[in-house]
Amino acid sequence: MFELHVTERFSAAHHLRGYGDPCEQVHGHNWKVTAFVECERLDAVGLGIDFRVLRRHLRDVLADLDHRDLNETSWFRETNPSAEHLARHIFERLAGRLGGGPAALVRVLVQEGDDSGAAYRP
Ligand SMILES: [Zn+2]
Repeated sequence: MFELHVTERFSAAHHLRGYGDPCEQVHGHNWKVTAFVECERLDAVGLGIDFRVLRRHLRDVLADLDHRDLNETSWFRETNPSAEHLARHIFERLAGRLGGGPAALVRVLVQEGDDSGAAYRP
């Protein structure tokens, strides 16, 4: 089994309702998002999935979040845009885009900085 990943970034504001200071105040992060895919077979070139293809899909998903106040988006009006919920949201949207291709999305890691993050896998 091969595991491949790509990392992209986006910038957005959020706040966590019910958390208490300081994360209940609106603040921003430069989020770092890594998508992991697995594949058993490689194509004739030796690739599991073209990194450019995976990166394009991840960029498209993140474009809807970039430079937004995440709490104001339709996805996070009720649900807190925590790293955990963001990871699940990005996973579900990215999995839908990859469909039934040769490489399956297995995990999405969302980091608020270099030292902390949350991953989601179904
Ligand atoms: Zn935060």
